[in-house]
Amino acid sequence: MSATIIDGKAIAARVRADVAEEVAAFMRESGRAPGLATVLVGEDPASAVYVGAKQRACVEVGMVPFDRRLSAEASFEQVAEELEALNADGAVSGVLLQLPVPDHLDGAVLTAMIAPDKDVDGLTPVNAGLLSLGRPGLRPCTPSGVMELLADAGAELEGAEAVVVGRSNLFGKPMAQLLLAENATVTVCHSRTRDLRAVCARADILIAAVGRARLIGRDFVKPGAVVIDVGMNRLSPAEAGNRSGLVGDVDYAPVAEVARAITPVPGGVGPMTIAFLLRNTLQAARYHFELERMLAETETEAPGRRLEGERTA
Ligand code: NAP
Repeated sequence: MSATIIDGKAIAARVRADVAEEVAAFMRESGRAPGLATVLVGEDPASAVYVGAKQRACVEVGMVPFDRRLSAEASFEQVAEELEALNADGAVSGVLLQLPVPDHLDGAVLTAMIAPDKDVDGLTPVNAGLLSLGRPGLRPCTPSGVMELLADAGAELEGAEAVVVGRSNLFGKPMAQLLLAENATVTVCHSRTRDLRAVCARADILIAAVGRARLIGRDFVKPGAVVIDVGMNRLSPAEAGNRSGLVGDVDYAPVAEVARAITPVPGGVGPMTIAFLLRNTLQAARYHFELERMLAETETEAPGRRLEGERTA
């Protein structure tokens, strides 16, 4: 068997084109453009590249970018103040803090300060809780992107055995929740899992997010499985066998011989993250607009109601 290649680049381009159309419609309806704020602390070159790509993608779909940069020595209070200012800014629909932050700061605590209705990375405790409860909210971008790839590959999720390797808050846990919500039977593996190979070999859907080059070999994969490789590991171009020097967690060529469908690295999961960041920003902008409209209607129907509420409080 030779696997179908799931073309994340093309699927992400389609999502971005859809978002651009929806942004145009939103602007006609609301008279405003969604705004996306990125906060970068320090000068880590890889983070600066990611932030630059997010800013450019934002402009391409007609959103307004807010590019906030703080020095590597910025204090907790300075970063917190920036996040609070963006939370309060009506022109900003979504806020993301680029991780990792410098060692003297706590990225999780700072992320939790982002207003949940602007948390376009879907990483605040409120949005993680809403996902876990199966309630609407902003979902983490990469797992949402993987759901889109699975849909595109025609993967049947209902009742399927899905195995997620990796249990990070950023990816593994929300991925498992999204699959569970679609009625897959989900197993989450990690560094203490016994006999990883045997657990993976049960999977109809196998998702690897570990950060170990080519950990998942051919004998980990059930013939006919759909394999999604989230891992991004940088080797020398010679070691990787490609120009970018990037390889995934899956040993691509041998696994592609047994899988039904597979994502390549690069060009698989990677491009989906920004596409879903844009989708989340539009979702947040729509939410704010609807909320304002509902509040305005309430005011028109019952003038003075808020004032009465204030008097009793
Ligand atoms: P992480 O926080 O480092 O988590 C890695 C997970 O893998 C942990 O749960 C760890 O287990 C588990 N693990 C480590 N060694 C293992 C082994 N030998 N067998 C089984 N499990 C093992 O990483 P992450 O943030 O989730 O990212 C994972 C990979 O995905 C990275 O390569 C990252 O670059 C990539 N990624 C890509 C995108 C994208 O394409 N946009 C987005 C997110 C992540 P313990 O919990 O027991 O330590």
